[in-house]
Amino acid sequence: MDFQRILEKSVSHVKPLLNQGKVADYIPALALQPLEQFSVSLHTVDGQTYSAGNCDAKFTIQSVSKVMTLTLALQRYGDELWQRVGKEPSGTAFNSLTQLEFENGIPRNPFINAGAIVTCDALYSRLSAPLHTMLESYRLMSGNHKLGVNKVVAQSEYDHRYRNAAMAYLMKSFGNFDNKVEDVLWSYFSFCAIEMNTMELARSFSYLSNQGFCLQSNQRVLTKKQTKQMNSLLFTSGLYDAAGDFGYRVGMPGKSGVGGAIIAIVPNRFTISVWSPGLDKFGNSLAGIAALEFLSNELGTAIF
Ligand code: GLN
Repeated sequence: MDFQRILEKSVSHVKPLLNQGKVADYIPALALQPLEQFSVSLHTVDGQTYSAGNCDAKFTIQSVSKVMTLTLALQRYGDELWQRVGKEPSGTAFNSLTQLEFENGIPRNPFINAGAIVTCDALYSRLSAPLHTMLESYRLMSGNHKLGVNKVVAQSEYDHRYRNAAMAYLMKSFGNFDNKVEDVLWSYFSFCAIEMNTMELARSFSYLSNQGFCLQSNQRVLTKKQTKQMNSLLFTSGLYDAAGDFGYRVGMPGKSGVGGAIIAIVPNRFTISVWSPGLDKFGNSLAGIAALEFLSNELGTAIF
């Protein structure tokens, strides 16, 4: 299959959409990104990477980081983690607080903010240097040993942390939070502000298309069973309250972030990463979803 040609076609396909989304402005440092940018990469299970568009551009991965946070927590806790966070779609926005009160401080799933923050709290209890461990994982799996955090974005998130802090304190009031809220939030924001391009992003999550094994680092990251579970959760909850629409249009498990990145997984074949900073009203990349829908049709690779 001519991956390169199809990726290039996707760039032309989304061009008219690039000025239609809105950059995330609740994190002031993210609002500075120019809107009209798009990049796509595809990384196959035998280690080939194809890219098109603005593929050297770096962006902060934001909520895509929740996948690696969950991965590192599952490595350490296994199924015990599910006592603190659920596995159901939330049907609410990624930063919603309401459900958390009704459900006694147990977030619906690990891909909304509250769920990722409690997962960070769990990791914080087991790791002496959480950011160092997190960066090492991305560096090994992406093959770029210089990956780091965009400190301006991390600081901007921390300075405007009110909603996320409210979630963490609410969970603490229900006894579902062990460490100091501000310390855990700083880890969470640093993970969100890790910066890379789409090639590095597609490689970093290649273990999800390869039954839990990362070829680049030659390491088993998750068991085969955990990989199936992770991809299932991504399918039902990876795009928050737009997960149903994304599943309908794209037919693959995926995870988005407000920086404009999305990863999508085709088990046993490849990972695709897209990036375009203009978001739809759910906080998902507008052109990114359109590109994935186009690619799933052109490549014939939906999982159904
Ligand atoms: N860092 C962002 C936040 O906490 C992540 C949200 C997202 O990407 N949906 O609000």
